[in-house]
Amino acid sequence: MAYDFQVGIIGAGFAGLVAALRLKKQHKESFVIFERAADVGGTWRDNVYPGCACDVASPLYSFADEPNPNWANLYSSQPAILEYMKLVVERNDLRKHIRFNSDIVKAQFMSDKGCWQLTNAQGTTTTVNVLLAALGPLNRPNIPDFPGLASFQGQVIHSARWDTTCDLTGKHVAVIGTGASAIQLVPAIAPMVKSLTVFQRTPAWISHRLDRTVSEAARQRFSRFPLLMKVQRESIYWLNEFVGMGFTGSQWLNGLMKHISLKKLADEVKDPETRKKLTPNYTIGCKRILKSDDFYPTFNRSNVHLVTDPIDTFVQTGIKTIDGQEHALDVVILGTGFKVADLNFYTEFMGKAGTRLQDVWKKTGGEAFKGVTTANFPNLAFILGPNTGLGHNSVIHIMESQMNYIMQYINQIEQLGGAGYLDVKESVQQDYNQRLQQQFNGTVWASGCQSWYMNEAGKNTTLYPRLNTHFRRLTKRFSIADYQVNS
Ligand code: NAP
Repeated sequence: MAYDFQVGIIGAGFAGLVAALRLKKQHKESFVIFERAADVGGTWRDNVYPGCACDVASPLYSFADEPNPNWANLYSSQPAILEYMKLVVERNDLRKHIRFNSDIVKAQFMSDKGCWQLTNAQGTTTTVNVLLAALGPLNRPNIPDFPGLASFQGQVIHSARWDTTCDLTGKHVAVIGTGASAIQLVPAIAPMVKSLTVFQRTPAWISHRLDRTVSEAARQRFSRFPLLMKVQRESIYWLNEFVGMGFTGSQWLNGLMKHISLKKLADEVKDPETRKKLTPNYTIGCKRILKSDDFYPTFNRSNVHLVTDPIDTFVQTGIKTIDGQEHALDVVILGTGFKVADLNFYTEFMGKAGTRLQDVWKKTGGEAFKGVTTANFPNLAFILGPNTGLGHNSVIHIMESQMNYIMQYINQIEQLGGAGYLDVKESVQQDYNQRLQQQFNGTVWASGCQSWYMNEAGKNTTLYPRLNTHFRRLTKRFSIADYQVNS
């Protein structure tokens, strides 16, 4: 064998673990997982800000083959999700496959050997026949270049790099942003701080979360009758798919969602001026709809203030907005999200004939076939590659769809043996992406809002424009005709 392992996986977050579980299930034991950090979990290990939780219900936001009867809530908090991931790792004996603190900085395809050479930050190399990039889209915090930021004498914390030693009690605190992380953070810290100033650039559409605790009796029922978990999972999945239709073309459903959200805002925020500021002015769903039942009511507290005047500059003592007002602050929390659409991963991928993936994607704006394979990068599969994100359902379902396809890809490469490789045809990839971009027509994502789904050129490289059900069909069968075979 010309390589160390049949399969290499970069990343031990949900995507990497989905891949590992599937390899195990098909009795493929020759695989290695490289993880930059000292533990598994990806985004669920990194995000430990107060209130961090998932806005997809846990019976669905979990591995299909690893149902958990013990969820304490319908929507789980970060510690519960991380604990579940670790449990699955132990139960499936995955830890022995993982190399922790191994940051793959370079992946080089070796045409003569039909394999990838991976180099970690310490310079150690490993070769694998097939490489799975499970890098995760939400791991590079977006820290805006605010003027004067360095001069601020208080503490600045990004939501995804939480300082667990920081005590916010009795302090003057600001949160910049009103995205998915901020709307969880704000209600969690409001009761402990002296004052909380929320800097909002664009109001988010917010829908009901309707979380509830799961009784001990219900958990026992799930344990005794696993079929109940399956039924619950399917019900949540199909309800989310139904909601997704309000994004992909159904006008009446979109209108209903807007009506429900505006009613929620009217019911939950007392002050008319604050309500006005919190009212979105773009099509619902164009940016991710957020789920919360405690964000709006937080603005009824006397110590919480909403600021919509844009930030002019940081000063030594706080933030100055363009109306000239200075907001005195001890701590500023950046809930400003992640760099997703620039596709500048930590790992450098070098394909056939010296092609560098980041250079190709800079030109095309991130394109892959089915969000998995990329021309000139043979034997490489992305999990959650370009245009595989969602605004309405569980992304783990997308990962599992991709693994249905990737397992067939791996089996085909295995059959070639020796230095064989499979390279998706450029024309196939182009046709796929042309069709995919056309499918945005008529969806909420083409309605003109600014979001991190788009790259600098205004191309949506992040979302899949249809429902999960379509994506599952799309990834069901692998066709060798889509590939150049080098045997
Ligand atoms: P986000 O949704 O991208 O929100 C970032 C916020 O920061 C937005 O309100 C944005 O305003 C604001 N912002 C960015 N740059 C700014 C600037 N220069 N000045 C002022 N405001 C600025 O980020 P996130 O909340 O971290 O969430 C990112 C993604 O993580 C989510 O969409 C989701 O996929 C995932 N997430 C999921 C969960 C979950 O429950 N499953 C929880 C947390 C995060 P604009 O809207 O004007 O850009």
